Amino acid sequence: MSTETTNAALFERAQAVIPGGVNSPVRAFRAVGGTPRFIRSAQGAYMVDAEGQRYIDYIGSWGPMILGHGHPAVLEAVQRAATEGFSFGAPTEREIELVEAIIEQVPSVEQLRLVSSGTEAAMSAIRLARGATGRSLLIKFEGCYHGHADALLVKAGSGLATFGHPTSAGVPAEVVQHTMVLEYNNVEQLEEAFALQGAEIACVMVEPIAGNMNFVRSSVPFMTRLRQLCTRHGALLVLDEVMSGFRVALGSAQSLYAKLIPGFKPDVSVFGKVIGGGMPLAAFGASRAVMQHLAPLGPVYQAGTLSGNPVATACGLATLREIAKPGFFDALAAKTKRLVDGLETVAREEGVPLVGDCEGGMFGFFFAESLPQNYKTVMAGGTERFNRFFHAMLDRGVYLAPAMYEAGFVSAAHSDADIDATLEAARTALRA
Ligand code: PMP
Repeated sequence: MSTETTNAALFERAQAVIPGGVNSPVRAFRAVGGTPRFIRSAQGAYMVDAEGQRYIDYIGSWGPMILGHGHPAVLEAVQRAATEGFSFGAPTEREIELVEAIIEQVPSVEQLRLVSSGTEAAMSAIRLARGATGRSLLIKFEGCYHGHADALLVKAGSGLATFGHPTSAGVPAEVVQHTMVLEYNNVEQLEEAFALQGAEIACVMVEPIAGNMNFVRSSVPFMTRLRQLCTRHGALLVLDEVMSGFRVALGSAQSLYAKLIPGFKPDVSVFGKVIGGGMPLAAFGASRAVMQHLAPLGPVYQAGTLSGNPVATACGLATLREIAKPGFFDALAAKTKRLVDGLETVAREEGVPLVGDCEGGMFGFFFAESLPQNYKTVMAGGTERFNRFFHAMLDRGVYLAPAMYEAGFVSAAHSDADIDATLEAARTALRA
């Protein structure tokens, strides 16, 4: 690679041949402005860009890199798997091993189907829920993201009885007419929706800890009522744990809610990110009874050329083996909490309103007085301040998510010294 290569030159070259210069929109820095960093390599907690600048990485590929980059055990497993073959289009023992490793930690899931992206997993989970219930209506919540399947790119209509509107061009209004969008953590709205259309609801899909509007937990009363209403009306509760799965706890967010709500479990679970360890892999699972509706056993069709890919499953399996080791999550959670507490302390000392929250290796912070409970309050302000903070941190070698409405991720590779350096950078950034 030429030493004269700059991020700006690469961005210009990229924009000529790739729309916006990126293969996923948030990478383009549109929200925060400026030039995206083109990453040359990453190791442990660090990424290095095309100009040789090193960053402490708090994105971790948007969640998957829970062990940090290039973990030796994962690298070795991937290298060995690659020499054995990239893809067969036939079943392998490793798929069974990975599925067994996932199921072992998530008692609500008896069977699982592997796919290649979170989008695919969420889309398939909805088809499964609709097929299993024989109903069409889907409820989702404002600020939750479940991938870019047509039926999920929708914002709320003017009232509960009105249809939602597509949030993307290219999605016909008819395609989202079976999707109802409600406010996150709003129990009354939920009750109203079930009272109005309970018998038509196939499923309710929710991020138990939302990571696509920064970091917002679903409240215990909200989750409790959601579970009750789904059960009473015969709708399936689908937890999208693509981000929270194996990231906030070994048993995923559902294990945390099961501790707070007696008998709590979802009907369907969606996973991605950590279970692939950075390779394209995701999954959806449920009880055996629900999963029997899937082809080849049942009438709900779903398939994939690269599903259960042998290199991706090796990567996921090696990652899960590391995070299942005793004490892993306690150490990760302590590190993440140290970062978030530290940010709050530094901000307080600098006279800047900032609140944060975290669980396991996932965190969020807001330039606000109190933690938001839904999308509207997340987006209520602080954008300008966040954008300036983001760039000030980037200039000091700390790579945060380039948008206020994204969560952050700490890996096992982040050292106390990395966290200290981050807090030091935050102090100067906030002062400026
Ligand atoms: N669900 C959630 C909760 C997500 O955070 C994401 C991606 N950030 C997806 C689904 C979609 O996953 P993918 O980008 O792998 O398609």
